[in-house]
Amino acid sequence: MDVSERVKAIAPSLTLEMAAKANKMKADGKDVVSFSAGEPDFNTPDYVLEAGHEALYMGLTKYTPASGTVKLKEAICEKLERENGLHYTTKSIVVSNGAKHSLSNACLATLNEGDEAILPSPYWLTYPELIKLAGGVPKYVPTQSRNGFKITADELKSAITEKTKLFILNNPNNPTGAVYTKKELESLARVLEDKDIYIIADEIYEKLVYGCKHYTFPSFGEKIKERTILINGMSKTYAMTGWRIGYSAANEKLTSAMSSLQSHCTSNPNSIAQWASYKALTGKEGDEFLQTMKATFTSRRELILKLLKAAKIEYVEPMGAFYVMVSVRPYFGKSFEGQTIDSAHEFAHMLLDNAHIATVPCESFGAPDYLRLSYAASERDIERGIDAFAQFVKKLTA
Ligand code: PLP
Repeated sequence: MDVSERVKAIAPSLTLEMAAKANKMKADGKDVVSFSAGEPDFNTPDYVLEAGHEALYMGLTKYTPASGTVKLKEAICEKLERENGLHYTTKSIVVSNGAKHSLSNACLATLNEGDEAILPSPYWLTYPELIKLAGGVPKYVPTQSRNGFKITADELKSAITEKTKLFILNNPNNPTGAVYTKKELESLARVLEDKDIYIIADEIYEKLVYGCKHYTFPSFGEKIKERTILINGMSKTYAMTGWRIGYSAANEKLTSAMSSLQSHCTSNPNSIAQWASYKALTGKEGDEFLQTMKATFTSRRELILKLLKAAKIEYVEPMGAFYVMVSVRPYFGKSFEGQTIDSAHEFAHMLLDNAHIATVPCESFGAPDYLRLSYAASERDIERGIDAFAQFVKKLTA
């Protein structure tokens, strides 16, 4: 007996493969510098930890409504109004087990068999798999480095066919760190506003932008808001990756469909984490935590870019999130101890084996010439890691 065709179509995660190898090396006593983290290296702030504790003793240990508690949904609506200038009621919100779960709901609620979903490339590796699981077909649109790896209105227009049902916009972007300007978003909105195309706007990194401003996509007109499923969550903003709370804001029809889907797949998201998220969003301490985290990421970003530049390692300047893409194209065809490098995947393995640096090769992000380096790492590790990277590439022979 075989597994279903549906799960057979899912690609294995190269990210997990690298992380597993790095962890094994660490367990064997090797001093590995990890640039592979996809999460802030901060603890969840104390006031949120206390709320989690409090929830247990308040008896919040039972099922909640499938789409989340009213209190948390109200706090999400207030956040969207206060920080993003968006007006939604609780009927537009579904709280899920992480933004990834919200994305899964969104793909399943919008796509039919054979529908096309436009995905600017590079992209976060989960999107194509969720599109395929929902029966859709990812339509990759390569973005250009001269445009900062951002899809243009013309590129979007040319990718639309009568089968297009969905467009996924990840802003700020994982892995490129691209952040769209107001003008760029406006021009994308003008292409989409009269089309029967849903938009998933994944804005999970909205708070982590450097020297620029983040604009939320549903703010670009009522027609756009009506078609957009806005995705956000607690993971990156409040260092709550393990708590698994994300949410969507969308029109009431889609929201009710996603809520019903979720009720059968998982029932509700964790009751304790929902209370902690409610406190995270409404507590005054949140601003201070975020400011500290952002200041730390700002100086780490400056440090890693300075070191990469000094070592003459090519990179794409990131404006948001906590990743920097490094080009390994210049090393293709070169050798290390007789072994020739012909892919980012191979380079990443050789770098890990020989220099003890864990990175993420970007083949499964649609960027086969790049590695993704996460600077959710200490300044000391950034210094050691980039130095070891530079020493490694010096040893490559033509
Ligand atoms: N969207 C993007 C672009 C991400 O990078 C991630 C996590 O890495 C997520 C969504 C998922 O976040 P969550 O932990 O809320 O599922």
